[in-house]
Amino acid sequence: MHIFISVDIEGVAGVCESLQGQRGNPEYEVARRLMTEEANAAIRGAFAGGADAVTVADSHGPMRNMIAEQLDPRARLVSGRARPLSMIEGIHADHDGVVLIGYHAAAGNFGVLAHTVSGLAFRRIEVNGVRAGEPTLFAGHAAEIGVPLLAVSGDDRLEAEIAEQFPAARSITVKRCINAFASESMSPDEARERIEQDVCEAVEAAASTEVKAPCTPPLTVDIGFSKQIFADAAALLPFTERTGALDVRFVAKSHAEAIGIISSFSLMASALA
Ligand SMILES: [Zn+2]
Repeated sequence: MHIFISVDIEGVAGVCESLQGQRGNPEYEVARRLMTEEANAAIRGAFAGGADAVTVADSHGPMRNMIAEQLDPRARLVSGRARPLSMIEGIHADHDGVVLIGYHAAAGNFGVLAHTVSGLAFRRIEVNGVRAGEPTLFAGHAAEIGVPLLAVSGDDRLEAEIAEQFPAARSITVKRCINAFASESMSPDEARERIEQDVCEAVEAAASTEVKAPCTPPLTVDIGFSKQIFADAAALLPFTERTGALDVRFVAKSHAEAIGIISSFSLMASALA
């Protein structure tokens, strides 16, 4: 059994402000260790639950945050940026389940450090009329190729989104959202214990977990950018339709295609910012 684990930073226990996710300051050095240890807890849980192989994707910002030499050596690590499948790069149809660690609520929703793909670029993303968070896109791709979402860790607001969009997945709630930059968090130790145990149970039940994405292709993707210049640039592409001062729409034939276009919009916004 091969399990795929994608790890972000904003939903990790003890993380609640942007500085903790940005390179070049001591807060980040602490947060990336917390991130690595939550990944390790999930890896331990996956092997205890019956996995014989685990692939981990480092999926925050530049996608090179986790400390490779501190990661459980039984896992393979996907790291580095501008990956075709972004936060879910490395997954294939032979995987038996997906676990998302350190995830957060969607852009436009209430939640600790809530955003979708890029807080700089997007204020909202909707897919087929559904408010899209990162699980909607990335676990949506996994489901499209037949791999179920097993478990997700993050705050209580993410838990509500997962309950609605992926009812078969288990939520591991490690903190309560107070606002965008404040939370009431479990201690890192308690969070790791909870993650290890819940991932173990979720992986044990992988074979009987329903495979279902909240959205089915073709995907009509509505992007609300945070600045008009970003929408101006996106609207130059022939497959987009301008739907508002800050808004464009495009239709993708798969989650993978939507992920590629959204990732390129995010890179474009970073270059323009
Ligand atoms: Zn994220």
